[in-house]
Amino acid sequence: MQTQKTSNPRLSRILGRAEKFDPVTSFPKVDELLEDFDDRAEHEPGVHKRRIGTSRLGEAIHEFIIGDGTRDVIVVGGVHPNEPIGFHTVARLADALVDDPSTVMGLTWHIIPCIDPDGTRLNEGWFSDPSRRTHYARHFYRPAPDEQIEWSFPFTYKRAHFDAVIPETFALMRLIDETSPILLVGLHNAELGGVYYYLNRHLPGAVDSLHDIPAHFDLPLETGEPESADAYAYGAAVYHAPLSLERYDDLENQGLDPAAIIGGGSSADYVARHGSLTFVAELPYWTHPDALDNAPSSRSYDDVLAEKAEGLHNLGEELQRVLNSAEPHLHQNTPFLRATRAFVPLMTETGDAEARRAAWPESSREATVAEAFTNDDLVRCFRLRYGGMLLRALHAEVYAGTAHPRLRRICDEFEETYESWLAEAESVRDLTTLPIEQLVGVQYASTLEIAALIVDESDQ
Ligand SMILES: [Zn+2]
Repeated sequence: MQTQKTSNPRLSRILGRAEKFDPVTSFPKVDELLEDFDDRAEHEPGVHKRRIGTSRLGEAIHEFIIGDGTRDVIVVGGVHPNEPIGFHTVARLADALVDDPSTVMGLTWHIIPCIDPDGTRLNEGWFSDPSRRTHYARHFYRPAPDEQIEWSFPFTYKRAHFDAVIPETFALMRLIDETSPILLVGLHNAELGGVYYYLNRHLPGAVDSLHDIPAHFDLPLETGEPESADAYAYGAAVYHAPLSLERYDDLENQGLDPAAIIGGGSSADYVARHGSLTFVAELPYWTHPDALDNAPSSRSYDDVLAEKAEGLHNLGEELQRVLNSAEPHLHQNTPFLRATRAFVPLMTETGDAEARRAAWPESSREATVAEAFTNDDLVRCFRLRYGGMLLRALHAEVYAGTAHPRLRRICDEFEETYESWLAEAESVRDLTTLPIEQLVGVQYASTLEIAALIVDESDQ
């Protein structure tokens, strides 16, 4: 595989290692991941294990330190526990840092293999076979926003105030404050489409390298609807990671109530006090030719948005109806229920926001095939994700033996609805599962290259 050569010799060396990663068809469970890192600390004199915190369910959280430079880099896996590509990336990164001292670049690397073991264990049901989207959806878990490590940092701005920091986030905050890192890499990944990135500031050379890396693996850059409609881009698919106060002001300018929408701050907000660079590489599991096609679609963009708005509205109403009828019979305070209660109202609110965007004059234009596909697919994605979590919340009550007969009926009926959504998702043709080792290659290479660029910059 060397579909495209980069003219950057350092990046060529990094990619030379990344392209030899063994094929991967699954994700490690938390115990396997942590045993692998414990083994490294036991057998490699250059790898030091240190406890940094405790999860809400009482599991010790460790970092693994490699290198002894005066400047620090923090790499965190499991920031969103439904995004496990980084679990392979941390392992390949630790291999490289131990095998090849030049990779360390005179830095101290702090690797946290998994910052959210509790949440990750609730996704393990799909880790053995990540190729099928419906299998993934059935076993999917994404925490409520105030339980996500990435979005539960303290945040105070204008009328917003959040300080209900969970212990996992607090562990990361302490490490950030102790080390004042030059670089913080949160290992996220996306679901479907192409590769894209977030940086919190301009970094010379970054955009070219971040384009060369996926091109080397013949992986596409994202071209569809960005996660945030008003995202500023440093280059194609390289977005500015907005600070929460920037999002606050944007929402306020749109006439919305930011205090009701923004909860906690992000890791990018928190490291701003240290002047650290934040870098995120978002990799999809699947792709589709239409998600990458910039040709005109013959659909108008405002229609695409209006249909998405209606789809999200219908979804929000259906999930809320099921949740409301189940509520009197729910006794188990499961993470699935907390997430469902938080996410379901957001479906309707997101639908409202998209309906408003459909009415903007600039939305009156032809949509590309990629925009049409990715907007349509978001409704599908949310049905699979949030319908799946509601079902898991209902099942928890059934399995615990505490379900009222009425709740069993609600559960059976919603199971049928959910199966129809799964069948609809299965009917999408031409979905391709991307080779996981290549996605890991992109995350690995981009992490090392960004670290090298920031070292270059600070040495000047
Ligand atoms: Zn994420």
